[in-house]
Amino acid sequence: MREPVTGAVIPSDLYGFAERLTEAERTVLTELRTVLEEQVRPHLNQHWDAATFPDEIRQPLRDLRLMDPPALKAAGEPVRDILTGFRNFELARLDLNVGTYVNAQAGLFRTVCLLGGSPEQAEQLDAQIRDYTLNGVFALTEPDHGSDVAGGLATSARRQSDGSWVINGAKRWIGGALEADVLATFARDEDDGQVKCFLVPRTAEGMHLEKIHHKASLRIMQNAHITYTDVRVEEADRLQGISSFKDVSRCLRSMRSDVAWMAAGAQAGAFEAAQRYVRQREQFGRPLAGFQLIQEKLAVMLGNLTASLGMVVQLTEQQAQGIYRDENSALAKMFTSLRLRETTALAREVCGGNGITLDTDVARFHADAEAVYSYEGTHEVNALIVGRAVTGVGAFV
Ligand SMILES: Cc1cc2nc3c(=O)[nH]c(=O)nc-3n(C[C@H](O)[C@H](O)[C@H](O)COP(=O)(O)OP(=O)(O)OC[C@H]3O[C@@H](n4cnc5c(N)ncnc54)[C@H](O)[C@@H]3O)c2cc1C
Repeated sequence: MREPVTGAVIPSDLYGFAERLTEAERTVLTELRTVLEEQVRPHLNQHWDAATFPDEIRQPLRDLRLMDPPALKAAGEPVRDILTGFRNFELARLDLNVGTYVNAQAGLFRTVCLLGGSPEQAEQLDAQIRDYTLNGVFALTEPDHGSDVAGGLATSARRQSDGSWVINGAKRWIGGALEADVLATFARDEDDGQVKCFLVPRTAEGMHLEKIHHKASLRIMQNAHITYTDVRVEEADRLQGISSFKDVSRCLRSMRSDVAWMAAGAQAGAFEAAQRYVRQREQFGRPLAGFQLIQEKLAVMLGNLTASLGMVVQLTEQQAQGIYRDENSALAKMFTSLRLRETTALAREVCGGNGITLDTDVARFHADAEAVYSYEGTHEVNALIVGRAVTGVGAFV
């Protein structure tokens, strides 16, 4: 059996999209890959089984300083969006839980502080976010409002005579909230009816957090159900740049692009795991890899992965030129997640019975794809954003 052809930077990147990275950027990816393989991978199956988070992976990931990597500083290069994209790809190529964990701080929370804070808040918070002296999460979804959160958001914020605020309501599914220092909490101002955002300390009086149990997807990444009862927040802890849901949408645009990169990366992980398996597993006296029907499935997976990667690379290059469109991020999140679902199902399929055990890796990707398919806007909601843009007709209700 010949050795499989591979991409120069990422084995399953046969079109060489990652070759547009500079040497220093490739070093960042290589360092990340080493930590993921040596210090993160060994913990995954045990914790996925137990539905717990491996605390021992936090520090090695933080030490990489992924938001301002030392290798780039040394080379005098800026942190380009394309590297952030490939960082998310590489994380998800190992595991979607780990990608989602890093992205909670480096993607969701950082984005809301950078785009939603005043220039002073953004500068001050970003330094703390980059070195993890402040750990935060993004709390938008509510028990009764997921897809319709834009109009339906029910958590309330009441301004007090001394300028502080009192928050009441509930949030659901908030990833990483159980360990966070603060929760970027979206609430509707009782006075003007607009959505605002408050950095609420997790331990503030009136906060109650519960782990969501019995998940069948993203079992390592912990999510919380949260209630806020008369929680007091200072005006200084309100992100000054968020004064309506339009401002939230600016954040979601960027977050959806990050998730699309992860959906592409997880396809690479699933494809590579399936490729390994079919080369070593024999049936009818020869490797599964030698059967036409298996090769067709590998080709479909690779096509999905390559199309997804090409899409996110172009999306990110467009955004780096300052062109941000809701529909472009929504399309990428929708398409890559749909392809992720198909790719991981095919990967699971070619591994046969072993494909439903954690031993082959593909079972993890297959199960975890379901959460990615639904978060950051479901398939339908992102399709409706695209549909509105290309028809000029909103069809949400
Ligand atoms: C693992 C996980 C992690 C998450 N992390 C976070 C987080 O950190 N922070 C956060 O704020 N949120 C988070 N979420 C929430 C996530 O964004 C929501 O689950 C998502 O927006 C969908 O909302 P919902 O689950 O309430 O589904 P619903 O809105 O109840 O939707 C159910 C179904 O109905 C469909 N539907 C709804 N409206 C329409 C319509 N108009 N037309 C057609 N179909 C429709 C949906 O597409 C979906 O298929 C997370 C979710 C999960 C599962």
